[in-house]
Amino acid sequence: MKAQNGMYIDGAWRPAAGTGYIDVVNPVDEQVIGRVPAGTAEDVDAAVRAARAALPSWAATPPAERAARLAALRDALTARKDEIAGTVTAELGSPLPFSQAVHVSMPIAVAASYAELAATHLFEEQVGNSTVLQEPVGVVGAITPWNYPLHQIVAKVAPALAAGCTVVLKPAEDTPLTAQLFAEAVHEAGVPAGVFNLVTGLGPVAGQALAEHPGVDLVSFTGSTAVGRSIAATAGAAIKTVALELGGKSANVILPSADLARAVHVGVANVMSNSGQTCSAWTRMLVHRERYDEAVALAATAAAKYGERIGPVVNAKQRERVRGYIAQGVAEGARLVAGGPEAPRERGYYISPTVFADVTPEMTIAQEEIFGPVLSLLPYEDEEDALRIANGTVYGLAGAVWAGEVAEAVAFARRMDTGQVDINGGRFNPLAPFGGYKQSGVGRELGAHGLAEYLQTKSLQF
Ligand code: NAP
Ligand code: MG
Repeated sequence: MKAQNGMYIDGAWRPAAGTGYIDVVNPVDEQVIGRVPAGTAEDVDAAVRAARAALPSWAATPPAERAARLAALRDALTARKDEIAGTVTAELGSPLPFSQAVHVSMPIAVAASYAELAATHLFEEQVGNSTVLQEPVGVVGAITPWNYPLHQIVAKVAPALAAGCTVVLKPAEDTPLTAQLFAEAVHEAGVPAGVFNLVTGLGPVAGQALAEHPGVDLVSFTGSTAVGRSIAATAGAAIKTVALELGGKSANVILPSADLARAVHVGVANVMSNSGQTCSAWTRMLVHRERYDEAVALAATAAAKYGERIGPVVNAKQRERVRGYIAQGVAEGARLVAGGPEAPRERGYYISPTVFADVTPEMTIAQEEIFGPVLSLLPYEDEEDALRIANGTVYGLAGAVWAGEVAEAVAFARRMDTGQVDINGGRFNPLAPFGGYKQSGVGRELGAHGLAEYLQTKSLQF
């Protein structure tokens, strides 16, 4: 795989300050496919300085011109879509059709949406005798995970650039090659030097240096709750704005009037896609006691069909983590109806699509984010019970409700403590705000709400 031996800082690839590097591994066969430099605090400092220096001019660039650069970025990503899909497949392990359909298409749609929003957003409004200006927050430190490597980057960088902010990105150590391709696309799009900068490296080194850097005004982080908590504490002490997207344990609530077969089928697909490495996955399926056995049988059959199609998880550590959760589910008394903790192949970080029945709400597998292809089915007695179970975790990122009538599903969705709910299998909308209630995070990504995260207001009185 092609890899840049440097950091993208101030509009060019520059040698790293240190000599360390990160091996990039293909999760399908565990082979090293490339290496990138491991950035240090020195690289982060150089990148933040470049971003600070570029800020006044980018912030003063007319929104229409910023929109034109984002449209060019959308086109540059589109022109490289095969290369990006191949790279995501090589470093994340997701099957190529999924990389093409989701890992590449979704971020292109998001980049397109911000090209449009930058052109149409009203950065100024009249409120009585005041003019309220929406100005960029400043220099953004973006720290992203590996699960949707390009999407997580675009969901932060595109709105930041639309707002007039400048950015330093620290991508996940497991998927830095996709981040390098993104930097090349930014360069091709004619984004001025210093507006976007990339430092590859390890979380506790480069990531931490970025989160702590006094030249960063806003830290936008997506990843684990543990790291998010420490970033929020650091940012809080420095009175920096912080945006956190921390994962979830979302409920798929199938009401008695729903088309059960369809709801179960879509629910299983939702959990198994991307090998379960989706923060908004509906990993708890809630079914009325009377239809529970039928749902369990449908889910087991549906999961078995994914056996050959599913990709591996990202690395050995994640595989062990997920297998540990499966073993714990068995130990706590849940009933395996598909998959299990055994490795299905000799090579690669594979996990069998796994379904648990007889899961109770307080079990570990019903409370903690597993981040693998593992679905839990929980029975409920009535609607109040379903609501109590659905809302009974520390998370609140997403969810689904299925019912015979849309209005019935909507009435239930209104009572859920969560940031997004799909009604009867609703489609992905790149303009819909995405983000968490409770410990799933702070702030929203995508659409106009995502843009607002990167703006601060100033009011002029007349
Ligand atoms: P993570 O460590 O939180 O990684 C997210 C990002 O933060 C990566 O770029 C990571 O760098 C960086 N990072 C790590 N430690 C840091 C620190 N002390 N300061 C600043 N940045 C730091 O997540 P993970 O270890 O890859 O995955 C662990 C679990 O997190 C998963 O099993 C899953 O439950 C959850 N997760 C959630 C999401 C989501 O979308 N909400 C995404 C991924 C993971 P490195 O890549 O070098 O670690
Ligand atoms: Mg990590």
